[in-house]
Amino acid sequence: MDKFNIVTKKRILPLIPLRGLTIFPHMVIHFDVGREKSISALENAIMNDSIIFLTTQKQANTDLPDRSDYYEVGTICRVKQMLKLPGDSIRVLVEGLERATIKDLVREEPYIEAEVEEVKYKLIDEKDSEIEALMRLVMENFKEYVRTSNRVSNDAINNVADVKEPGRFADVVISYIYLKPENKQKLLDKLSPFERLIAIDVVLKEEIEVLELEEELTKKVKSQINKLQKEYYLKEQLKAIHKELGEEGGIEQEIEEYKNRADKIKMPDEVREKFDKEIKRLSKLSPASAETGVIRTYVEWILDLPWDKEKKEKVALKRSREILDADHYGLKDVKERILEYLAVRKLTKTMKGPIICLVGPPGVGKTSIARSIARSLNREFIRMSLGGVRDEAEIRGHRRTYVGAIPGRIISNIKKAKCKNPVFLFDEIDKLNSDFRGDPASALLEVLDPEQNSTFTDHYLELPFDLSKVLFITTANSAATIPGPLLDRMEIIEVSSYTEEEKFQIAKRYLVPKQFEAHGIKKKQVTVSDNAVVSTIRHYTREAGVRGLEKQLANIMRKAAIQLVEDKRKEVRVSTQNLHKFLGVPKFIDDKATKENQVGVVRGLAWTSIGGVTLSIEVTLMKGTGKVQLTGKLGDVMKESAMAGISYIRSVASEYDVPENFYSEMDIHIHIPEGATPKDGPSAGITMATAVLSALTNTPIYADLAMTGEVTLRGNVLPIGGVKEKVLAAHRLGITKILLPKDNEKDLENVPDNVRKHLNFEFVETMEDVLKHALVKKGKKNVRRKKV
Ligand code: ADP
Repeated sequence: MDKFNIVTKKRILPLIPLRGLTIFPHMVIHFDVGREKSISALENAIMNDSIIFLTTQKQANTDLPDRSDYYEVGTICRVKQMLKLPGDSIRVLVEGLERATIKDLVREEPYIEAEVEEVKYKLIDEKDSEIEALMRLVMENFKEYVRTSNRVSNDAINNVADVKEPGRFADVVISYIYLKPENKQKLLDKLSPFERLIAIDVVLKEEIEVLELEEELTKKVKSQINKLQKEYYLKEQLKAIHKELGEEGGIEQEIEEYKNRADKIKMPDEVREKFDKEIKRLSKLSPASAETGVIRTYVEWILDLPWDKEKKEKVALKRSREILDADHYGLKDVKERILEYLAVRKLTKTMKGPIICLVGPPGVGKTSIARSIARSLNREFIRMSLGGVRDEAEIRGHRRTYVGAIPGRIISNIKKAKCKNPVFLFDEIDKLNSDFRGDPASALLEVLDPEQNSTFTDHYLELPFDLSKVLFITTANSAATIPGPLLDRMEIIEVSSYTEEEKFQIAKRYLVPKQFEAHGIKKKQVTVSDNAVVSTIRHYTREAGVRGLEKQLANIMRKAAIQLVEDKRKEVRVSTQNLHKFLGVPKFIDDKATKENQVGVVRGLAWTSIGGVTLSIEVTLMKGTGKVQLTGKLGDVMKESAMAGISYIRSVASEYDVPENFYSEMDIHIHIPEGATPKDGPSAGITMATAVLSALTNTPIYADLAMTGEVTLRGNVLPIGGVKEKVLAAHRLGITKILLPKDNEKDLENVPDNVRKHLNFEFVETMEDVLKHALVKKGKKNVRRKKV
């Protein structure tokens, strides 16, 4: 190496092989000497300037090492102190002076003496930049080492920085750093300071890396321990607070109770896992925090749901038939259809298959039929109205991240049912709305779909609940507005309006006795005459079902109850004469219009979701410019239908004495009263056209007549829907003659005989037919038609 001048010097010195200890120059260290040969070597050294050569044994456990058992390179040391220890061993304090290499062994007995060669390196150029750079590098790494290792004090940095001679510098650094045993000898072997510096640098880097790792690990462990300690400490404090407040047990006791409750429930594994997780979270929180409230509610929900509870079902058609009959008058077809449905279910033994949808106007007993089905199957009954449900969250719940979130109504109702196989009625499925808050229909679809509903997942619970055992039934006022995909899954059973006779029977047999019971009245105490019942139906209600009737009967019972109690009467009789005392002034008196023939007023029949209704259509003419005005909240289809009728009239004007140029000199106003109810559809076409023509020709229309049918531009009459309901509505109003489109003749089959026989039907194909039957012949004004 031409950076250095090398001076060698040979010396003969006593030698001690050390076990597990490597001594470097400039190091001061003490160790104990026990072996006889070593003590002898030491004694000889003392006599000879106290200089000794120390080298390291390759294997610490070799007792009598020969030359091959210790390393060639060792350190010449000065013995600074000796201390005799109890026993034969001696403690010595030595200071390392120079590296040296064994050249020869002079003797091995009674102690080892060797000829060693001491090598001194002296820099030729004191300012060698390579050495300088290397030293700086080592210095930097050494600083880093001191920083990361907390075993070395910061003073070491100054001590090292003071040393300028490279070889010595290297050895001082070595004296401060921790070295793995295998590295020690390697560094000692480096006689050249240059190589020694490079080797130190490598070792330093390795060490720093290990230290950093160590530091990281320590931090982790420490933070873990800190957290545990903190938690433990806080929990203990909390316990103390509870104790102080007299709430001993606190959250732990609560958790224990939750766990006990959970153990008694056979819940799916997934649910149990979630439950355990939440309980664990609960145990870590302060009982007063808002979060615990949220978790508690959630845990309660899990515990309250009937994961494993099923009510034993009884499927016996005989029993079902008996119960359906006992609860409902009439409804023969409906009952038959339901029994068929139950029979099929019993045979196939599954819940899969279509879902019953009972379609009909309000108050005809749809809900009550569903209730009877539940009773006959010995299942719980749950009813959920879908009217106006817009938000998917109502069905499926809000996510728990929402403040005050709760499960949707499906899960809430299942909880109420306390079993997983109730009869579940979705009322008014046709009133389902959808808007920006999501589509409740698609959520419902999932609920009703037997392929999907075994894992129905509520947003709040975030756990699947098995709805496959639930018997779903739905109701609707009109099948037309049920969302298509839902309709596909359903089997429609129509429940139609009641006739007056049916209403009477229902009232007598079911509603009156029911009201007696509800008001705690005995049969002997109140009598309601048959005529009073009929009058209640006729003059106090106008409806397709019997809901209003039931309310009026309840009114009667309440008033009767007052008389019984306050006036101490023994018996109350309700008759047509005193009915007004119970129910007030009659709400519906026979419509005047049905009695007198009028110009420009025609009775139409419409079908709405609350059943059939009659509409009187009025037309007035005024001088003007041919404007047509339509009022009474009419839909577009209805408006267009009116325009078609007017165009037809223009085309046949000459045949009916219609004033010429009426369409440019008169304004026509068509109004349909009860303006608050929206009306639409083409079925009032012939009615509007007739009213306009009646007004234009000043010809009256028979008052006992009602009509329905769509009109074309050519004056043809097209069929319409809802014939049965419309006919029943006309019958309720006391109409005697009805004009129906020819193509609707077959629909009369569905109309009960006892209604049909009171009515006179004319089937029309053209407007000409209509007008023939509707217009009162001139000269015979106000003559009522007789029944044919
Ligand atoms: P919906 O669900 O069709 O609107 P509800 O089932 O609520 O009608 O019926 C209203 C009331 O009328 C209930 O008290 C019901 O028991 C009674 N009711 C309806 N139809 C009948 C019937 N055919 N026989 C006996 N009671 C009936």
